[in-house]
Amino acid sequence: MLQSQYPYFARKEAPKDEESYNAQILIRAGFIEKIMAGVYAFLPLGLRVLRNIERIVREEMDAAGAHEVLLPVLSPKENWQKTGRWESLDVLFKLISREKKEYALGPTHEEIIVPVGQKAIFSYRDLPFGLYQIQTKFRDEPRAKSGLLRGREFLMKDLYSFHTSVEDLEVYYKNMLAVYKKIFSRLGLEALQVEASGGTFSKYSHEFQVLTPNGEDTIIHCSACGFAQNREINTQQEGDACPTCGTPVHISAGSEVGNIFQLKTKYSTPFGLSYTDAQGVTQEVQMGCYGIGISRLMGILAEVYHDDKGLLWPKSVAPFHAHLLALLGQDEEQNNAIRSQSMRVYEFLKSKGIEIIFDDRANVSAGQKFAESDLVGIPVRLVVSQKTGDKVEIKRRGDEKSVLVDLSDIMPYVS
Ligand code: ATP
Ligand code: MG
Repeated sequence: MLQSQYPYFARKEAPKDEESYNAQILIRAGFIEKIMAGVYAFLPLGLRVLRNIERIVREEMDAAGAHEVLLPVLSPKENWQKTGRWESLDVLFKLISREKKEYALGPTHEEIIVPVGQKAIFSYRDLPFGLYQIQTKFRDEPRAKSGLLRGREFLMKDLYSFHTSVEDLEVYYKNMLAVYKKIFSRLGLEALQVEASGGTFSKYSHEFQVLTPNGEDTIIHCSACGFAQNREINTQQEGDACPTCGTPVHISAGSEVGNIFQLKTKYSTPFGLSYTDAQGVTQEVQMGCYGIGISRLMGILAEVYHDDKGLLWPKSVAPFHAHLLALLGQDEEQNNAIRSQSMRVYEFLKSKGIEIIFDDRANVSAGQKFAESDLVGIPVRLVVSQKTGDKVEIKRRGDEKSVLVDLSDIMPYVS
């Protein structure tokens, strides 16, 4: 990608009304734009990060045997009345059409997936299976001041699983805990598995929490045995004894990146979701649901991976792998040599499948190119200048030192 032809939205100042760090830096670096409180546009750089997060989540969902669907955002009032959530779910966005019909914008999709799932379920032989989607959700959140961490419109992965028995649900649920750990580790995030209230029939649900100072949740956790609970269900203070192993616990702010629940028959009952067992008896289907906050993850990555110069994306989600800068000067003859050497580097890395953006812009100072490159946070920076001759200077974002290498030795640094 040639930067001279790339719409570049970076700017000096974040909007004054943006309180959250993640949105401030993502706006300044040109990844997102604020449309209104809790609603953001994803710009070309930002969408590349979002798609990378999605890709990792999708790969792991597919590998776990789940099947992708796409459910509608617009949903009928009747489905929400069946479960009582038309009245009880305070964040539900409601719409009235010109025919005076009422609809909801999906904040989650149990009310939609259950009747859809029923179409594929007759006997025990049809179970188990899992359906997931990656889709925009809407919630009328009272406070939307945390940037991508709390949107009124946001992207979520939601998976729903269908089972003959609680035992079978538990096997699937346990496997999902492992799948979630793998996803967060591929994203470069350390996520604690935290017990939380809100398990519908079980004592706890599980959340995955990334500890970060701007997170909205409070987590009590033990570094010795891995015990971790959300504040909602635990009143312990810093230094109190861990209920599992007695070691003093820590209290930290966290942000929930994923949440998994055993729904059991909570939604099967109102919709009559059932199957016929081996004895010919009708039984209720047991369900689980498993969410991941895709756009929130992008905000959390910005909260976790930055320094005072800008972002530092982990390679797995970075918008590009390499950022090549051509530093042009006053001397046209030298500029021609720099242009041809940098083009050679660019074409070579492209041919090797490296996702590279090349700052080929004329009339932009070296200082500005370096500052913007640090702000955008691509993992590897390559520089061609009058000093580099037929070599190229390479530095990892966040490192102090650069190295000067031949084109033929470049691959280990960028792959
Ligand atoms: P929270 O406790 O943060 O309000 P939740 O428990 O209501 O979230 P779920 O309904 O389980 O969230 O949604 C699944 C995932 O979607 C969450 O783990 C979170 O990562 C993400 N998520 C939830 N609400 C929002 C939001 N308003 N903006 C961005 N992401 C969200
Ligand atoms: Mg929660």
